[in-house]
Amino acid sequence: MSSENKNSNQSDMKTLISFMIMAVIFTSIFNIFVSSMTMRKATEITYTQFLTMLEKKQVDMVEIQADRLLITEKVPDEANVTGYYNMAKQYYTGLVNDPELTNRIIKAGATQYREVQNNSPIVSFLASWALPFLLIYVVSGLILRSVSKKMGGVGGPMSFGKNTAKIYAQKETGVTFADVAGQEEAKESLREIVDFLHQPQKYTEIGAKLPKGALLVGPPGTGKTLLAKAVAGEANVPFYSLSGSDFVEMFVGVGASRVRDLFKQALENAPCIVFIDEIDAIGKSRDNQMGSNDEREQTLNQLLSEMDGFDASKGVVILGATNRPEVLDKALLRPGRFDRRVIVDKPDLKGREDILKVHSKEVKLNHDVDLHQIALGTSGAAGADLANIVNEAALRAVRFGKKKVEQCDLMEAVEIIIAGQEKKDRIMTESERKIVAYHEVGHALATALQKNTQPVQKITIVPRTMGALGYTMQMPEEEKYLMNKEEILDQITTYLAGRAAEEVIFHMVTTGASNDIEKATELARNMVAQYGMSERFDMVGLESVQNKYLDGRNVRQCAETTSAEIDEEVLRIIKECHKKAISLLENNQPALHKIATFLLEKETITGQEFMELLKQREENFEKY
Ligand code: ADP
Ligand code: MG
Ligand code: ZN
Repeated sequence: MSSENKNSNQSDMKTLISFMIMAVIFTSIFNIFVSSMTMRKATEITYTQFLTMLEKKQVDMVEIQADRLLITEKVPDEANVTGYYNMAKQYYTGLVNDPELTNRIIKAGATQYREVQNNSPIVSFLASWALPFLLIYVVSGLILRSVSKKMGGVGGPMSFGKNTAKIYAQKETGVTFADVAGQEEAKESLREIVDFLHQPQKYTEIGAKLPKGALLVGPPGTGKTLLAKAVAGEANVPFYSLSGSDFVEMFVGVGASRVRDLFKQALENAPCIVFIDEIDAIGKSRDNQMGSNDEREQTLNQLLSEMDGFDASKGVVILGATNRPEVLDKALLRPGRFDRRVIVDKPDLKGREDILKVHSKEVKLNHDVDLHQIALGTSGAAGADLANIVNEAALRAVRFGKKKVEQCDLMEAVEIIIAGQEKKDRIMTESERKIVAYHEVGHALATALQKNTQPVQKITIVPRTMGALGYTMQMPEEEKYLMNKEEILDQITTYLAGRAAEEVIFHMVTTGASNDIEKATELARNMVAQYGMSERFDMVGLESVQNKYLDGRNVRQCAETTSAEIDEEVLRIIKECHKKAISLLENNQPALHKIATFLLEKETITGQEFMELLKQREENFEKY
């Protein structure tokens, strides 16, 4: 406790001194500004010129100042109107030891006065220095206090001018592992760190060294930052965090000094957690081809040496987070630095359900809410998306004047996250609506008529803000981790069936299929180049994914000629699936017509309604 006080006193002194310097500078500038304002008008003349003016009785007033004479010209009578003082020209000349001066001035009929030495030097000092100083102190204090409050930092109002400004420190994060759902493996590996912070002697006694740092790796929004805070919360230690980009500045050396500051503060407050978010901003490999960046390299070097320098038994644990681990410098990852890697991946079905539960804890849920179903329909969503979905649903419930959130609110929220808000006011012509309806039913039919597909959840032709004019939602019955070749082919066929319906019914094509085409092509390409699902290339890896956690681009790993062959192979797959889609729909035209007509009328139909209509067709079919 007492040592903490001493520390804070020390840093208070420092900030006070730096503040003083700034205030002096400000006040000087202020004074120079003020005096330049008052001197603005006077032009310099020689003493002789001044005497000539006196003789010609052109002088109205002579002011004897400390270092000069300020001369105000007499204004001709005709111009003697109210604002004369402003119109009169002012001159000044140096002081000359002229005992006759007073006489001359009187003879010329001018007024003379000596500048009153401001009653006492104390008053003048107060006026020109102390007052502005005080003013600046109060104003800057107020501004900084409000700023630092907004940033949530613990720094006092005067902690500017130092590199510590951006360090975001929290005594208690208030987050615990219970707030992080669906990351059991990650939590497990971090629990050891928590234990270490609780009772370091248990580890040091036996001679065990704990890792100095752990790197949280995973796609955006999966809870890396949240986990780091939870570690601090669980261990009940302060949390120092800085984003990697905070280190990288225009000026070489600033980042390095920030690193130094961060570690200094952390060591003073050990045990604690230092968290460097988005560490790839500084930790990028130093030998990249794009030319070097001195500032970043210096910062990285500083970080490396700081990490080596401190004694881990003190209880400082460094956590880093990134979604691009592959670009990190090897030196950062070697033992003794960030040698432990904690994968924070997108949650699976159970994880998603748990995250939904965590976030709906404070939300009033109706009894019909089935979070399991929402979790099923949101495969691929990260924790942040799910938190967003729950909130959107609550907002929607309020909008509709409900007291509790119902399942339909949650379902709609999922769609809002996927496809954007409904855009009811977009007016489509009747023929456009018809095309969209057939297009969507095409997708739905292709799904229903093939074996290896997911059931249809909903078909709608209400346009959405994110560009879709309508869409067909599929809902898996269970979470799948593997897809076989047939399933992928059926999926491609489903994507292509929208356009196929347009062709079968209207014998024309529209722009509405661009998104389908993109997805189908990507799948087909991955089949050939990554999944080893073509006979031609067997199991050769032809492309690899660059940024695994950021939906990165695929990088070609083969010759250009091979690449052309991949294209041919992709074309073959797409053509085959397209043909299949067309024949599927041609053979089921009555159902296509019937369901599309129904959809045009209702705008949105559920998967159940869709299946019933489809079944009717089968019964009718049997009758004939
Ligand atoms: P990241 O740092 O990985 O990009 P964040 O930790 O900032 O993601 O997560 C953003 C938000 O998403 C969190 O504040 C939290 O509300 C929510 N969230 C993400 N993952 C989880 C999770 N596993 N459990 C609960 N909430 C989560
Ligand atoms: Mg983050
Ligand atoms: Zn489509």
